[in-house]
Amino acid sequence: MNIISKFRCISCGREYNIKDMIFRCACGDLLEVIHDFSKLKRKPGEWKRLFEENMDKVAFLRYKDLILPSLPDDKVITLDEGDTPLYKANNRLGKFFGIKRLYFKHEGMNPTLSFKDRGMVAGVSWANYFGVKDVACASTGDTSAAMAAYAAYSEKIRGIVLLPKGKISVEQLSQPISFGTTTLGLETDFDGCMQIVKELTAKHPIYLLNSMNPIRIEGQKAIGIEMIHQLDWEVPDWIVVPVGNAGNISAIGKGIREMYELGIISKKPRLAGVQSSSACPLYNSYTKGWSDLEPVKAEKTVASAIQIGNPVSFRKAVRELRYFNGVVEKADEKEIMDCKAFVERNGIPLCPNSAVAAAGALKLRNKNIIKEGESVVIVLTAHSTKFSHAVINYHTDSTNKYANLPIYIKPTLSEVEKTLNLKQ
Ligand SMILES: *Cc1c(COP(=O)(O)O)cnc(C)c1O
Ligand SMILES: [Zn+2]
Repeated sequence: MNIISKFRCISCGREYNIKDMIFRCACGDLLEVIHDFSKLKRKPGEWKRLFEENMDKVAFLRYKDLILPSLPDDKVITLDEGDTPLYKANNRLGKFFGIKRLYFKHEGMNPTLSFKDRGMVAGVSWANYFGVKDVACASTGDTSAAMAAYAAYSEKIRGIVLLPKGKISVEQLSQPISFGTTTLGLETDFDGCMQIVKELTAKHPIYLLNSMNPIRIEGQKAIGIEMIHQLDWEVPDWIVVPVGNAGNISAIGKGIREMYELGIISKKPRLAGVQSSSACPLYNSYTKGWSDLEPVKAEKTVASAIQIGNPVSFRKAVRELRYFNGVVEKADEKEIMDCKAFVERNGIPLCPNSAVAAAGALKLRNKNIIKEGESVVIVLTAHSTKFSHAVINYHTDSTNKYANLPIYIKPTLSEVEKTLNLKQ
């Protein structure tokens, strides 16, 4: 293995070999991957040429030299994640948001319908490279779905998911069990599962694929890299991301920061993180001039994937937000669901968590923080269909602004014609 990468602690700076199967520094804080790209001796134009030459490869391999240069290609377990659509907003959406150059980067169009696949192609491939037989996570949602799929496809890695028994919706349970993952329901809450999975992976050679895993963060960098490549290296003025554990905004920031430092791009976008008002510790910190994290009790929110009161990657996120002159916004339940409904009326199926980012972009534009004429990319993190209960709840309540209630009628042609205002 070439030694261009290493782990480094984000607080005390202590360094570790990237081959070490560790997730936290001796001091207790998170690790991140540091690459010495200078060893690759590539000029900015050569990087871009490499990406063009690799257009026929899956995104993870195309950008691999920026993501995990130490990982051999033949160890990669991919389900053709990435190359997700970058939708240009239609006129109606442009008007609604008051933004002319508006795009949606739709990460819900990944194999398991969320951006978590971007991290898992890296994480499960890394486990495969080291010959690990088991991977595990405590998760109730998209993380377990993605881990389960990649482990299943590998044919040789067993996925182990720890879930709080009785606290999981049908949708959240369906993906890991369908992929054949060993799915353990524990009579505890999410934190209880997390505690046990940490102990389990510390004691046995089981690779932990929860959010603190720094390799997953490297994989998620591809979202930002690919987005800017799709824009023909024209960096947008703003990138707007929903924030829960804050790993994704850290990853997108890290990838773009590294591209900027390598000279692949020559402009920095501004980053906007958006949280649900029910769980917004990062927002609270921002409004107090990036004060230290004060964990909150995350209240119930329709954006269940970001119902997190103590974000693991808080410090990484703050670092990237500061680097990119970033802001943090929040959105309440009504703002989230009305914005989701309006965007979906235009044919773009986004989940409630993604709608948090969309609602935040709308608010930032209305406050004139996003200025007239600026270009904006909103990152959609999962597909609407993973959270269909939210859709049904919204549309079957006629008091909601954009509710579209099903119309139940008698099974005759004339009834259908009458309902559609057609001549009989
Ligand atoms: C995991 C997840 C998020 C939150 O990402 P973080 O890295 O925890 O901030 C947002 N949306 C969806 C759909 C997710 O699955
Ligand atoms: Zn440390």
